[in-house]
Amino acid sequence: DISFEYTEEPQRTAIETHHTTSKIQREIDLANALKQQQLALFYQPIVDVKSQAIVGCESLIRWIHPDRGMIPPDEFIGLAEDTGLIVPMGKWIIHEACKARNRFAEHIDNIYVSINLSPIQFESPSLVRDIESAFVSTGVKPNRIYLEITETTLMLDPLNVANILNDLKRLDAVIALDDFGTGYSSFSYLHRFPIDILKIDQSFVFTMQDNSRSKEIVRTLCSLATSLGMRTIAEGIERESDLHLLNSFAADFGQGYFIAKPMPEEDFVNFLKARS
Ligand code: C2E
Ligand code: CA
Ligand code: CA
Ligand code: CA
Repeated sequence: DISFEYTEEPQRTAIETHHTTSKIQREIDLANALKQQQLALFYQPIVDVKSQAIVGCESLIRWIHPDRGMIPPDEFIGLAEDTGLIVPMGKWIIHEACKARNRFAEHIDNIYVSINLSPIQFESPSLVRDIESAFVSTGVKPNRIYLEITETTLMLDPLNVANILNDLKRLDAVIALDDFGTGYSSFSYLHRFPIDILKIDQSFVFTMQDNSRSKEIVRTLCSLATSLGMRTIAEGIERESDLHLLNSFAADFGQGYFIAKPMPEEDFVNFLKARS
């Protein structure tokens, strides 16, 4: 079960019996959120580790609740997956992110936008069609859209997922394997699926300066990715010295609070203007 604790006290309604909102009410709220445009994409910059120039950004969803304020994705993605709402929501996310990429390109020509895909979206027979139609209707350059998947997606239905990923590669999209090293990691994924980018999980990056094992894991993943012709994105860069260490490992790209936190589109555009 997902936790649904809010930072602000939720408003009490008659049907509530305990201290959190009932699941059915949360489902209704979330379905309304999509219809009533309470969802927003935030963007976190991704830099080239060596030059620190901005090369891309990751789109991260937020629920701007009228009473409860901003609700982070960890508190509602699970519910959206349980109810299947992640499919229409995901379609909306893909479309929004493609449109935003075109606006960002006015400031940085070659900028890419990363989109997170849930394993449940891979169960939808229309995933490839939905992505293709977002590419066509927005006119976005497909190779400037990075699709982030997790190891969970790869293990669910490997044959189906491999077919979908191959179709997405034919559309010229870029595939990134997110949170690598945290889930059910298997090196076999790296040759069975068409993966372009390895995202090194923040749990290794946070600790790499104090923990020699984390450090060696990060170093090894960087060199493994390079040997396999993949590029790397290191997540969770919170200090300048992390960036320097990653540069010494020849990591390609990085993101984290040291560079910037995820922010609303308007702020991100200002960030781009200030940095370009
Ligand atoms: P993720 O894909 O691994 O995203 C990275 C998370 O780490 C984001 O949390 C980001 O704000 C946070 N982060 C980035 N840099 C730092 C740092 O330096 N330090 C720390 N402590 N954290 C950092 P966020 O936005 O709360 O998202 C959490 C998770 O929710 C994401 O993890 C992803 O699994 C999911 N998610 C977010 N947006 C979407 C979406 O549009 N679709 C789907 N399916 N899942 C999403
Ligand atoms: Ca991600
Ligand atoms: Ca991640
Ligand atoms: Ca994560």
